[in-house]
Amino acid sequence: MELADNREKILRELGPLRWLRAAAMFALLFPILLTALLVLAHKLTRNGMSFLVSGAPWTHWFWSGLFYLMVAGVFLSLLNLARQCPRCGNGFFKRQRLKPEDGLSQMERPGIGFNINGFSRKCLSCGLRIDGSNLDAS
Ligand SMILES: [Zn+2]
Repeated sequence: MELADNREKILRELGPLRWLRAAAMFALLFPILLTALLVLAHKLTRNGMSFLVSGAPWTHWFWSGLFYLMVAGVFLSLLNLARQCPRCGNGFFKRQRLKPEDGLSQMERPGIGFNINGFSRKCLSCGLRIDGSNLDAS
């Protein structure tokens, strides 16, 4: 019973983790994709998009909005790095060993890996997937 409660708790706490990761990715990638699409449309329509840089007041709001959305995305990604994995208690997007199981420090560990990955789909410390699908596996 206690195990099942713990399982429920982990799955529940993965929810905001998924949501924040998606929000950060959207805020970072949407302005880039939209700008790329507009540039492409501009080329395809032979300068048909030049009204976007005409200097009209709304174009300032448009580009500022995209820029601040991206800034928000950067902040969200940084905030996400502080999120903890609900299973192992270490940073979810950060490889850190608060509870080292083999007694090795970070520098002594063999192999190369990303130590920070804000877009990771699984916990960098224990490997728990962000959708909780491998919660029962180990
Ligand atoms: Zn973990």
